Formats: sequence, structure tokens, C-alpha cells
Amino acid sequence: MSSFLVSHDHWLSPARRSPSPHFNTRPDVNDISLLVIHNISLPPGQFGGSYVEDFFLGNLTSTAHPFFDEIRDVQVSSHLFIRRDGEVVQFVPFNGRAWHAGQSCFCGRENCNDFSIGIELEGTDTLAYTNEQYRALKGVTEALVKRYPAITPDRITGHEHIAPGRKTDPGSAFDWTRYIQSLNNV
Ligand SMILES: [Zn+2]
Repeated sequence: MSSFLVSHDHWLSPARRSPSPHFNTRPDVNDISLLVIHNISLPPGQFGGSYVEDFFLGNLTSTAHPFFDEIRDVQVSSHLFIRRDGEVVQFVPFNGRAWHAGQSCFCGRENCNDFSIGIELEGTDTLAYTNEQYRALKGVTEALVKRYPAITPDRITGHEHIAPGRKTDPGSAFDWTRYIQSLNNV
């Protein structure tokens, strides 16, 4: 049994809603058939605080850290963000096209943002993710698969796999076996 549920209007509960302006319309709103796992931390390697959320909302103060000035014009988002303590934040409804994958290709099909849901884990490529994150990710994934059954286990992937050479997340620290084997009714 999953404790998470996707509502009729494509928002997850329980999750904290933090609506981002960084999204647009999917070319086919009925094609939601890929799940992409990512990581992010801002500044890189530092956890907690509001910087990632600020970034996805377009509110990051570029003077707060030297790295923030480098990404000042970058407009990105994800559907979900799972913090180190397992808190789940949603920025874009699942029927919206979030901007998480960039130039990407899955099984010969490009522009994965068109047909995927993006989940960002707060973390880095090399530091182990927390038990709370695996627990939340399992529950969230089960709820998503139930609502969007075209997301089969072989259509759950990492950013590094759909943008090889360009992206490295979620990295070697992410335990794919643990994650996939934890899933029930998927
Ligand atoms: Zn990524």
C-alpha cells in the first residue's frame, strides 16, 4: 500500500505544493510514460535551506553564492523534489511539462521532458542518499505508476542515462537495485 496519491488534477498528496512558473504544455498530455531520477543540491554538496526551491521558482538570489551567479539565467524545474529528510515538494502538476531533462533521448526518442515526470533527490552523485529519501521515493513511484500505468519499471531511468556525457546524476551513489526491488505492484 502506498501512502501517496495523485489527485484528479495531477498533484501529489501528501506533498508540499510550491508552484513554479518554469513549465509549459506537453505536446500530448495523455503521454506520461517515463520517470527520470535526478539529484541536485545548492550550493553543490550543501543540503538544507531554501536554495533549490528558490532556483526552481526563479527566485534564487545570484549574489548569495558564487555558483549562483553562474546559473542566474538558467530556468529549470522538476515535478518533485525529495529532501534529505524525505519531505516531498511538488513544483509542477504532472500533466504539465517541467524543465528537468534538457537535451535527452530515451530509446531513440528525444526531448524526454515531453513525456516524462522528473524527480530530483537532494544530493550528490557520490554521497549515499538517505533511508527517508528511498522510503519517500518508493511511495511516490508506486502512486505515479498507479496513476500513469505507461510508466513501467523499464521506463524508470536516470538523467545520466538519457543525457550521457552531459549529465551524471543521480550518480553512483544511487542504489538502483534497492529502489526497483522496493517497489510493490509496479
Ligand atoms: Zn538531472
